[in-house]
Amino acid sequence: MTRTCTLATTCTLTGVGLHSGADVRVDLSPAPAGSGRVFVRDGVAIPALAEYVTDTRRCTTLGRDGVTVRTVEHLLAALLLAGVDDATITVHGPELPALDGAALQWRAAIDAAGIQAQGREYVVLTLPAPAWVPDGDSEFFLWPADTCAVYAAIDVPDTVERRRMVGGAVDDPAVAAQLLRARTWGLESEVRALQAAGLARGASLDTAVVLTPDGYLNPRVWPDEPAWHKALDLVGDLALVGARIAGGVLAVRGGHRAHVALAARLRREMGCTIQE
Ligand SMILES: [Zn+2]
Repeated sequence: MTRTCTLATTCTLTGVGLHSGADVRVDLSPAPAGSGRVFVRDGVAIPALAEYVTDTRRCTTLGRDGVTVRTVEHLLAALLLAGVDDATITVHGPELPALDGAALQWRAAIDAAGIQAQGREYVVLTLPAPAWVPDGDSEFFLWPADTCAVYAAIDVPDTVERRRMVGGAVDDPAVAAQLLRARTWGLESEVRALQAAGLARGASLDTAVVLTPDGYLNPRVWPDEPAWHKALDLVGDLALVGARIAGGVLAVRGGHRAHVALAARLRREMGCTIQE
């Protein structure tokens, strides 16, 4: 299918924000072909594009005219994986709800709303040549491919999560399933510091994997869950390119800041071509 897709109907989710602990309601609604994925809060429309990112500490925050929406990455990943190019996302609160800490509940809501093809061809950003893009502690390797493939390599010092790498083609249902169910994670020491600073109020041991120096504070759903979550974050941040990507991306020691910088660079430097 080369037509843009939107949601067939509106669906609503409610939950608690991961960082703020605030109760939040989100309405996912159909949007016209070519409008893209757009957040709306307090009447302000904020396109889900890299140039609208205002903060990348702990999560990805979009903003415009002083209005912000935090923690957009898991929903954006779910929309990208479902092939939803156009959607209006109305947020009643400061950030998106944490839900399961992953993207399965977002995907279930999208599937329940249904997906509707529209009368316009979608925009494809083609990666034309292999590229090696270092960025601080992170590195990206890009290569041409017919479809989008995303890989994440993590190396977390003083934990058991050393030199782990996962990923694959995002249109492979087995890869998408791994991405969607991978919960967020953090270091035990970081989680304590965040909560002392009034952050991560909506986090719980059901919605986050906590790494200790010699293992895990709570069970993982399956091995490599933290690396898969890093790949999920990468998919969500690459959604900020605002086009479907034809090519492979490997992020080594990635994070939201570097992911978003890559998305902005792809928008600036490589341009977009309409798929015939
Ligand atoms: Zn995440």
